[in-house]
Amino acid sequence: MKLTIIGSGDAFGSGGRLNTCFRIEAAGRDLLLDCGASSLPALKSRNIDPSTINGVMLSHLHGDHFGGVVFLLMDGHSLGRRIRPLVIAGPPGTRERLNAALEVFFPRSTGIAWRYPWEVVEIAPRTPSKILGLSVETIEVIHQSGAPSTGVRLSDGHRVLAYSGDTEWTEALVSIAKNADLFIVEWLRAQPRRHWTHELDQAQGAARRSQCAKNHDHPYESVDAGERRGGARLGRTHCERRAGAGAMSARPAKPSACCRPDTSFSLAT
Ligand SMILES: [Zn+2]
Repeated sequence: MKLTIIGSGDAFGSGGRLNTCFRIEAAGRDLLLDCGASSLPALKSRNIDPSTINGVMLSHLHGDHFGGVVFLLMDGHSLGRRIRPLVIAGPPGTRERLNAALEVFFPRSTGIAWRYPWEVVEIAPRTPSKILGLSVETIEVIHQSGAPSTGVRLSDGHRVLAYSGDTEWTEALVSIAKNADLFIVEWLRAQPRRHWTHELDQAQGAARRSQCAKNHDHPYESVDAGERRGGARLGRTHCERRAGAGAMSARPAKPSACCRPDTSFSLAT
């Protein structure tokens, strides 16, 4: 399993970051974990052909996490290159919200004869499912999006990827992170609430090999210390609203501390 950061920014492009989108290559498939509004140009700027994407797994239905699905769908249809099916998985309400977004941005698009098959699979929280050969389990977190917002666990049978989605602190993060090889965690709300990072220790302690970047002021030091002890990495998303890209560029030699675009995490056996 390999994860590549396509976008890790917040909804507002802070620091020039792109909306959330992670590319996961696993089980011979190509999957996007969240697909924010900026994801299509982000994929193309990295020479990733969107028509090769097999599926999208959505944590929740905010535009900076699912808005790009509309453009992904229309790109495959309008440019006429896509033939392979596309699976879009998300929480209950995904089908209705996606249809509404399609109609807002491309009126009558829900009634067209698509050039390729696509389907929406709605996954209820705490209901183990299979998507494109990957085991998937979601759990509801605390984030208002008009539908259940979820944290996501993905496994190819060998490695486990955990993702908090957007949330404030919740015990659900502990079970999401349990035995994970990599835990991607929302960091935007961690900064004004320092105790959040302390509580995150519980989730990190549950993760098999992950260590926590506990302190916003010294994130690299914390991650380095974890890696020296043999721990895997903690990926953070929605990073640095206040500091923006400047905080990243200040220490370019330490890319693993945050979800910098184009950073890859190999979760090979
Ligand atoms: Zn959100």
